[in-house]
Formats: sequence, C-alpha cells, structure tokens
Amino acid sequence: MENFKETKIPDIKGGIADSHFHNLNYTQQGTEPRNLIEAMNLQDMRYAVLAPIPTSLLLRCGNCSHDHDHGHHTKSEVKTEAIKKFWSNYNPAEGLPAAAQEHIESIIPNYYISELKVRNAFSATAEEYKKLIKKDGPLYYDTNVDAHTAASYKNLPVEVQDRFDPMITGLALGDMRASEKLIMKLRDNPGVFTGIGEITVFKEWVQHKVQAGLQADMSEQQRALIKLMKTCGTIGMPVILHCDVNDYRPDDKGVNQASEANNKDRPVYLDAILEFLRHQDCQGTTIIWAHACGLGKYSRALPSHLDNIKSLLEDTRLNHVKIDLSWDTVAEQLLFTDQQLKDKAKEPDNEKLSALADLINKHPTRFLFGSDSLSPNSVDIWQKTSTIYSPLFRKLSDIARQNFRIGNYIENIRNARFKVRLWEILCMPYAAIAITRRTDNELPRAAKIAISIAIKEAIKNGKEQINHILSSPKISGPDNSEKDPENFSKLRSTLLQYAKAYSETVKYSADDLEKWATYIFKDKSKTAPWTDNNDFVNLIDEVEKEWGAEGKALEALKAEILQDKEAYPERYKDLSSSQNSALIAVDRAIRDAIVHRMMQVELQLQINMGLTPSTERIPDFELKNNELRSIWMDIAQRGKEYNSQNHSPFAAYLNQVQAEITKASAKES
Ligand SMILES: [Zn+2]
Ligand SMILES: [Zn+2]
Repeated sequence: MENFKETKIPDIKGGIADSHFHNLNYTQQGTEPRNLIEAMNLQDMRYAVLAPIPTSLLLRCGNCSHDHDHGHHTKSEVKTEAIKKFWSNYNPAEGLPAAAQEHIESIIPNYYISELKVRNAFSATAEEYKKLIKKDGPLYYDTNVDAHTAASYKNLPVEVQDRFDPMITGLALGDMRASEKLIMKLRDNPGVFTGIGEITVFKEWVQHKVQAGLQADMSEQQRALIKLMKTCGTIGMPVILHCDVNDYRPDDKGVNQASEANNKDRPVYLDAILEFLRHQDCQGTTIIWAHACGLGKYSRALPSHLDNIKSLLEDTRLNHVKIDLSWDTVAEQLLFTDQQLKDKAKEPDNEKLSALADLINKHPTRFLFGSDSLSPNSVDIWQKTSTIYSPLFRKLSDIARQNFRIGNYIENIRNARFKVRLWEILCMPYAAIAITRRTDNELPRAAKIAISIAIKEAIKNGKEQINHILSSPKISGPDNSEKDPENFSKLRSTLLQYAKAYSETVKYSADDLEKWATYIFKDKSKTAPWTDNNDFVNLIDEVEKEWGAEGKALEALKAEILQDKEAYPERYKDLSSSQNSALIAVDRAIRDAIVHRMMQVELQLQINMGLTPSTERIPDFELKNNELRSIWMDIAQRGKEYNSQNHSPFAAYLNQVQAEITKASAKES
C-alpha cells in the first residue's frame, strides 16, 4: 500500500522512469511484468507504466483461395497462407506444431501495418499505400486487456508492484458509457490502476481500422471522450493521449516537401486538439499529450512545431497538459534533420538540440520521458529512445534533466496512485451503485430521483473528504489526537470502520488504515466539510419541492424512515449521515424490488390457478405448482432475512404470506 507520507522520493538522482511503455503488442504478445524487473534494473529504470495496446489486430484467414505459384504472391498473400496453415496445424491447447513453427514465426503479423514499405514512413507512393494498407486486417477494441493487467499486477510482490503503474487502455472512446466502463474496471480491481492510456484518437491508419462508432475524433464524436476526461479528473487519474497533430499524406516524400506542397505550416488537427484540451471538462485532468504533441511516422514535425509547443505551454488554460517525448521515431525527428537521418548521422543537429533543450529548461515541469517501446525483447530495444536522447540529457539543466527523466513521472503518475486509492475508498462504493443500477423498474419516479440525489450526495461527500485530505498539511510529529476537539475521535473511528469494511476487498494493513484515519482528521483548524446533515428525509423534501404531487407520494416512505430512525438509532449514528442516506436509499430500492418480484409471482400464481389476474392479494388459495411455491417461499424467506429487524409493515406482510403458504401446503397433503 502506498505510504501517503512519501509524496516525493527524497533521492531521485539518477534513475529514469518510463511514462510510455507497452508491455503487450497488437496481438497481446509480450512480457509479463514480473519478468520486466531485470531489464528495468539494467537500465536504471525505477518505474514504468504498464499500458497494453487495446486495439488488437484481427487476424483473418483471408480470401486467397486460388491456387497459384507462391513466387507470384505478394507478401500479404503469403501471410494469408501462413495464417491458414497456422490454424490448420495449430491448436493452442495442444502446443505449437513443430512443422509450422519455423515457417510462421517471422510471418504472422503482430503489428497493424505488416508491409515494411508502408511501415517505413513515406516509402510507398499514394497508390501503393492505399493498396498495401488494405492487406492487413482491421483492429478491434480488446477491452479484456485491463483484466489481464490487473491479474498480473496483483500476483506481484508488493515491492515489485511499486515499480509499476498499471494503466487502463481497453476503452472504446466513442462509447458514451466509456466513463462507466472505467469505473467498473476500477470497482473490479481496487488498489490496482493509476491512470488511463495510452488511448488513441488520431493515429495514421489506426483510426480507420477500428469500427467507426467505437472511435473518438476531435469533432462530433468527441463527447464521450470529454466525459471520460472529466471522470478521470474527478478520480485523479492521469491520461496519456495519442493524437496525431497532422494527418498522413501519402503523396508527401518528406517533411519539407510536405509543408511546401500544402503551402501551410499549421498541422491540420492542431486547432481542434487545442480546443479539446481547453474544454472546461478537460481542465481538471492531467493530460499527457504523447509523442511531443502528436508527432509520428507520418505526422512529421513541421518547421513550426516547437513554436506551437511553446504557445501551448504558455497558454494558462492548458496548465493541466504535459508532454511526453516518447517514441524513437519522434526522438529522431526532434534532434536530427531529414538529411542527417538519411545519412544515418551519429550526432544530432546542434540547432535542433539546443532549441529543444532550451524549451525543456524553460518549462522543466511539463515534459516526461517515455520509450514507447512495444513489447521489447531486449534491453537494447527498450533503451532505443533514451539512447537517442543522451545528448539531450546532457544539454539540460540539472533540475530539468531530473524532472524530465523521473521527477515529472513521480509528480504526475506515481503520486496519482494515492488520489485514486482515496477515490476508491471514499467514492467508489456509491459510484458503482450509480452506474449499475437499473432505472427501468416500477419505482415511483420521485423515489428514483431521491435515490439518485442520495448517491450523488454520498459521492460529493467522498470527494470533499479527499480534497480535505489532499489539502491537509503532512503529518510531521507523533499522533496528538488527545488534544483534538470532541468529535475528532468519533470521526476518526467512523473512517476507520469504513475503511476496514473496504479492506475486506483490498488488503490494507490495519496500521495503514490507522495512519490514514489519523491523517484525515489531523487538520483541526478546519471543520470537516462533509459533516453537514443531509439525511434521506431532507432529500425527500428536496424531491417534493422539485416534483410536487409525485414527490408527495414519498410521504409514507418518509414516515417509515423517521420511525426506523427512532427504533434503531444505532443504524444511523456511525456513518456520516449522507453516506447513510445513500445506503438507506439503496436499502429501500432492494426492498421495493422484492415486493415487486413477489407481486409478479403472485400474479403468475393466479394465472396458474385459472383465476382472473388481479394485483389484489388472494385471501385464501391452494398451491398446485410446486415450483412456484418454492420460488415464493424462497423470496419470502430472503425478504425476511433481509429485513431481519422485523419492524416494518413489510415484514409483517411476509410473515402472513409464509403462514398462508404453510397452511395451504398442509391442506394439500
Ligand atoms: Zn502512440
Ligand atoms: Zn505508444
């Protein structure tokens, strides 16, 4: 578990952290985290994100059915044949086929572009490009990648876990429920994830290979993405965003020709991306724009690129935006001229190197190192990007170098772990109810609204607690809780109790929880912001105000809660009242659901016995159908257990029903 006191590592001299790393590739092949540690140690790497590629390559058998000489086949046709052969010989459950293995290993694609001609930027003509790119299969969102990340992370020893920041990547960005899916992933794996990404909006050919509706863009189809950004900001999760700043131009033969031919020096997507980043729902989220603000194999740096980055960094509405300089092809573009790259020059261009170093020195908190290594199988390959950046590292000021290599990773990624854990403890139980609760039930609308408000309140209070914790001064001395105001120990025990319940799903030590609770209530100069007394009765009043007659229908419910409160005060005393409100609201919903289910069964019984269906209870009846009888008994029993306090009219009703069934059964036999 994160030690919250350690928000900065005291000594981060030396060492590097990889803010952009893919342990698995486009076919989910690669290295398990536990096997990465040695490679990390060899390159003095303290931390790395774990970001599997979520857009899996769909390997299709293909259409190559005609029988001709392999010598006349294109590479892709040979691949299609290889895939066919692979599948006809190979059953993963039985192990690799020895005969096919040799032939296959170099040929089965694991990248979204298998044609080398296309993969090497601008080495194909427009016509060739269009033809060749279609040879590869489409991509599909493999949302299961996150479950795998979580499973492999949870199996690591704690000290090894500390080296990684598992990232959620398997989200369909065009789905308006992507935020809900994110919360479900957190709910299913508490204590695991730090952030999301790399997520991809525009990337050369990738966005065209994903089913259109699943993909986000920077125009109409960005609403789900904006919602997702806001959700991440609320939870405290940083986002690593891939979005090419320029589109692919197959006619381009190089950077300079590209800008001349198009006679414009402004990348086509730049303004739309800036507008997106400036959106008010994005401003509370740490967004790391990958690859030096959207460079890539095809999205080449135009001469104006560093100036554009400079304006971004100086725009106060974009303070939440950080930049990673990941990807070897990007590092090369930033440091070498086209001619130098052609000549395979060893030393970077002095002018380019100085310009980039100056920019980072001037904004030392904004840049992060990342390798963008894709499922590397050697330390050398993993280190390719950092090797290219060696001259840059030397050119940076001490503070800029330190921050670029590791400090900004700790600040923006590693330190986010603590925020996300707090959100998981204080908000997630309610957020999880909110996103999975069916609303198409028979509850009165006002009751639904009251429940929604109660849940919202509970989440809001959780957020207030988190903000309170995050703004509190750090613990510096021994615990002096004896001097605390009267309610201190009460609040503290409340939180402990709450956190302990949570710890049944996430294994935190009692010691940790104790420290947390102490920490939270340490700052006695402030009134705890979540102590205002909004209980469910107040919420009902609110609904009444808003919904008039419909809200009035809740009068009975209100009376029952007040009665319940009086009879069972201990239910209400421990948790803060708003949290209790949400629990009661949900409790009510469950109770109502049982009643509704019973009504359905009762209706079915009436039909079954040839009676005219009525929603009125039947005073006396015989049960002919054993199955229905057992369902009824079961529901009644469960309802009774649930309602074990035996205090409400509902419990009396259940007793009555059970007695009737017993009587009827006795009469039958
Ligand atoms: Zn990328
Ligand atoms: Zn990447």
